[in-house]
Amino acid sequence: MAETIIPKATAKRLPVYYRYLNFLANSGTTKISSTELSDAVKVDSATIRRDFSYFGALGKRGYGYDVKDLLNFFKKILNQDRLTNVGLVGVGNLGHALLNYNFRQANNIRISAGFDINPKLAGTIQSGVPIYPMDEMIKQIKDQQIEIVILTVPIDAAQHITDDLVKAGIKGIMNFTPIRISVPSYVRVQNVDLATELQTLIYFLEHYGPTLNEP
Ligand code: ATP
Repeated sequence: MAETIIPKATAKRLPVYYRYLNFLANSGTTKISSTELSDAVKVDSATIRRDFSYFGALGKRGYGYDVKDLLNFFKKILNQDRLTNVGLVGVGNLGHALLNYNFRQANNIRISAGFDINPKLAGTIQSGVPIYPMDEMIKQIKDQQIEIVILTVPIDAAQHITDDLVKAGIKGIMNFTPIRISVPSYVRVQNVDLATELQTLIYFLEHYGPTLNEP
């Protein structure tokens, strides 16, 4: 399939559409109107139509969308056919929680290896995931073809571990540490700073109050 360049905002909504369509397919629903889809995923129907238009005309006027067709389509786009192995470095409180969560909703993502400096953790299995010592990290990442790593280590360890991850050939890092890590341009970093997110929410609530939900 030819590569379709889509706007970032559209790309971010694709998993939302995908999850809902998956839910519909599992419950035996075969078609959905654009209004129903819009209500369910909380995206206005003009935006949905525009998002879908990047992939060609998928809906039929007066019929809506065929759930199975749409689902197969998104599966391909989102690479749901392919299992993505994810590594996790730093099996502390947050790391443990993520291992335990292990992205069960998304059946194409799996944390397949954990890494930690603590000798009490290395060599054990936590929430079904083997934990390796740090000196095995580069080799394991290469052997297991891990492309993405979740980083949940203390701040002072973040950059030198990142440098090793780059050496190991990682393509993306989900950075849960509050510092901005430096990576070469071919590596993507997604920053998830839970404390800042919470502060932002508190700030918005204090200054603007809750969002007024439409009736
Ligand atoms: P805990 O209560 O288990 O310490 P935490 O999340 O509060 O959890 P942190 O100090 O943030 O603890 O460390 C997170 C994890 O990162 C710990 O399991 C720790 O052993 C691990 N860790 C610390 N330094 C390194 C390092 N240089 N390389 C790899 N892992 C590390």
